[in-house]
Amino acid sequence: MGLKTKAEYIESIRALKPVVYMFGERITNVVDNPRLRAGIEATGATYEMAEQPENRDLIVTTSPLINEPVSRFTLPPASIEDLVARVKINRKVANYVGTCHQRCTGLDCLSTLSIVTYDIDKKYGTNYNKNFLEFLKHMQKNDLTANAGVTDVKGDRSLSPSEQVDKDLFLRVVEKRDDGIVVRGAKAHQTGSLSSHEIIVLPTRAMGKADKDYSVSFAIPSDTKGLIHVVGRSSLDMREIDGADCGNIYYSKYCPTLIFDDVFVPWERVFMCGETEFASEMVIKFSSFHRQSHGGCKAGKIDCMIGTALTMMDYNGTTKAGHLKQKVIDMIHRAETLYGCCLASSYEGSKQPSGSYFIDTVLANASKIHEGKEMAEATRLMIDVCGGFVADLPSDRDFENPEIGGLLKKYLKGVESVPVENRVRMYRLAEKLALESADTISDIHGGGSPEAHRVTIFRETDTGAKKKAAKRLAGIKD
Ligand SMILES: Cc1cc2nc3c(=O)[nH]c(=O)nc-3n(C[C@H](O)[C@H](O)[C@H](O)COP(=O)(O)OP(=O)(O)OC[C@H]3O[C@@H](n4cnc5c(N)ncnc54)[C@H](O)[C@@H]3O)c2cc1C
Repeated sequence: MGLKTKAEYIESIRALKPVVYMFGERITNVVDNPRLRAGIEATGATYEMAEQPENRDLIVTTSPLINEPVSRFTLPPASIEDLVARVKINRKVANYVGTCHQRCTGLDCLSTLSIVTYDIDKKYGTNYNKNFLEFLKHMQKNDLTANAGVTDVKGDRSLSPSEQVDKDLFLRVVEKRDDGIVVRGAKAHQTGSLSSHEIIVLPTRAMGKADKDYSVSFAIPSDTKGLIHVVGRSSLDMREIDGADCGNIYYSKYCPTLIFDDVFVPWERVFMCGETEFASEMVIKFSSFHRQSHGGCKAGKIDCMIGTALTMMDYNGTTKAGHLKQKVIDMIHRAETLYGCCLASSYEGSKQPSGSYFIDTVLANASKIHEGKEMAEATRLMIDVCGGFVADLPSDRDFENPEIGGLLKKYLKGVESVPVENRVRMYRLAEKLALESADTISDIHGGGSPEAHRVTIFRETDTGAKKKAAKRLAGIKD
């Protein structure tokens, strides 16, 4: 109980016994599998940083719910200060791990549920907020990590959940019992589900009246009976398994598909069941929170790219090249505008009826559109600065080979004073930052597709006020 050290976190993940498949095989030891361990290390960094004196005040605070110190990764925001801290922490941790730390999505679910369960209870007299607060106490007292089970596999995108030929293509309730519900379905792209103690499920879209069974939210331990994690491929995933050529030697991201094969959920872990009109509120709140988390995080990742680009300039002898300095400046302004947009969405946040705080949706979505385009540009600029070896550097094993290793070290030397090993390592990092598909593709699709961000911006913007202002200036009276 209480805040966990990184070692305690890893042992608590070891104690879980989830059903896992990867590359066609059943994995029984998740924590010592090098591919999965790199993801667990990334989440572990959030625990490690909470212990560091220079970060503790930012990451650890007192929970009004349990009146004890907690990690902000388990704290639904109750003030503007809390909203701002979310962004600052995500930037710091991302800069530390250089990839996805995998812990923001759980916080985004907790933040959403702290608002919406209250709203549902107010309308229907249900007990969801009480269920949620008990669950939140459990998360906070044990310093747990949660995964966000939001994205359904969705089948034919032109059909609603209840219209699908196979009714299980959106997760649904297949049985209601006295003691709980049984759910069936699959959630895709589940960032860090095996680094998590809990899986929190929210609906993936707005629901119609016919979609009652699909309007469901709950939380279950990640090793619950009937839950199957199938770990997805990522462009550089064999590097960790192989133990060579790992660009980021500590951390990686992985995203399983999560199959719910008739999973039982006790009623006290259910946060919504059939209240269709609240599905959209859940989706909007979650996705806005998550798009804001992304912006803080990706600003931190651009910071890593800037560091890589500048170091490569030192190693290549291009430090004084003016056009490269301009490119680094272009990277810096992209990181800062992304960060600024996310901070602004916090400062413009507001108190909700439950007492929790919610960010400004338009600003959060604007930051995500910016991220979707500008991360690609920042990546392009880093590659431009670094050079072609981002693409095709010989393997570490070639450098270690007694016949050709010496030749490679001779011909891959840059600035004389820089050991060739350092230059090779930095190229490898640039490759990982640019090409780790599980992380890079989330710049575009993480938190919803780009069109979802645009639709939300238009829907949430007060377009009437803008038209009114234009008409007044033109002297038009309605
Ligand atoms: C690396 C990564 C990590 C992720 N992590 C998580 C996670 O931890 N938890 C989680 O729940 N989700 C996660 N996601 C999922 C993410 O939210 C989805 O990928 C995103 O919402 C897009 O959904 P999709 O992948 O099913 O693509 P699709 O929905 O198939 O979208 C493909 C394209 O089709 C368009 N489209 C789809 N349906 C329609 C329609 N009806 N009408 C018009 N256009 C349509 C979209 O706008 C998009 O341009 C992650 C995704 C990635 C890539």
